[in-house]
Amino acid sequence: MTTRIDGKDVAASVIETVKAGAAALKSSSNVVPGIAVVIVGEDPASQVYVSSKGKKAKECGFHSVQHTLAETTSEADLLALVEALNIDPAIHGILVQLPLPGHIDDGRVIQAINPAKDVDGFHVINTGKLTTGDVDSAFVPCTPAGSMLLIERARGKDLSGLNAVVIGRSNIVGKPMASLLLMANATVTVGHSRTADLPALCRNADILVAAVGRPEMVKGDWVKPGATVIDVGINRIPAPERGEGKSRLVGDVAYEECAQVAGAITPVPGGVGPMTIAMLMANTLVSAYRHAGQTPPSF
Ligand code: NDP
Repeated sequence: MTTRIDGKDVAASVIETVKAGAAALKSSSNVVPGIAVVIVGEDPASQVYVSSKGKKAKECGFHSVQHTLAETTSEADLLALVEALNIDPAIHGILVQLPLPGHIDDGRVIQAINPAKDVDGFHVINTGKLTTGDVDSAFVPCTPAGSMLLIERARGKDLSGLNAVVIGRSNIVGKPMASLLLMANATVTVGHSRTADLPALCRNADILVAAVGRPEMVKGDWVKPGATVIDVGINRIPAPERGEGKSRLVGDVAYEECAQVAGAITPVPGGVGPMTIAMLMANTLVSAYRHAGQTPPSF
């Protein structure tokens, strides 16, 4: 019997912990966790993400500010805003929504964020801490951190003896995911566009994480019977059956056929997606605790 891993459910329990943690920090230290989200330009998908992050922050009892800058904003002006947020004591988490317009260097902006407020976990200091195993003082990127919590629910915290395959080697998902699995004692292989015979590699995986950006690429016969399958992909595809011009979201995994074989599997939507935003809130809470010199709750 396949278990459908309900990301909404797990995310809701993370948010409850965040709310309780925020209330406790306020009463013990009079500190309210603060998050600043910066968006440059009019990209509609980014607007949706940013507004849902702001809403969730308010629901958690956070101080939440949004800076919406024009598409034509210069890199220097954006860097000046980041610097102002770096030294603002009311702000514990800074998130610059990517992608940035072409005339701005994403990397330069991300590396300008104070690593102690880098709740996205993209700064090289945080990347370095994660790869060296210093997660207690790092920020782990939200999507892999959320995926890892789902894996823990399915397989426990110790993955000794299990083979894990991550498809995708991005800095945002694939590489940090591989680091987390390795820290949990899994034997990890990372597949990518140059991998020979990806299906055969995947068939060896007790834990299979797909972070590719290719609709329904992972097929049922790629999945080892009983495997835990985590689908990070979010792809919008045409859905003419829903009416002219309509679309729907699918993952990188062909859900129906893989669910026949897997032991546990995340759906899209409703799997990893809700975890990402929940972990952003968790990271911001952790940052506020660290700034207050207190031990944060664990997730
Ligand atoms: P990237 O485009 O940065 O990376 C994709 C990776 O997939 C690359 O390493 C690439 O290999 C690999 N790849 C591409 N095509 C193939 C192929 N045919 N076979 C094997 N590997 C392939 O994407 P991201 O990591 O940023 O995101 C991946 C997916 O996750 C996307 O669908 C994205 O929308 C989704 N996502 C979801 C989030 C969530 O909250 N649920 C958050 C972030 C991302 P190579 O390096 O060789 O080019």
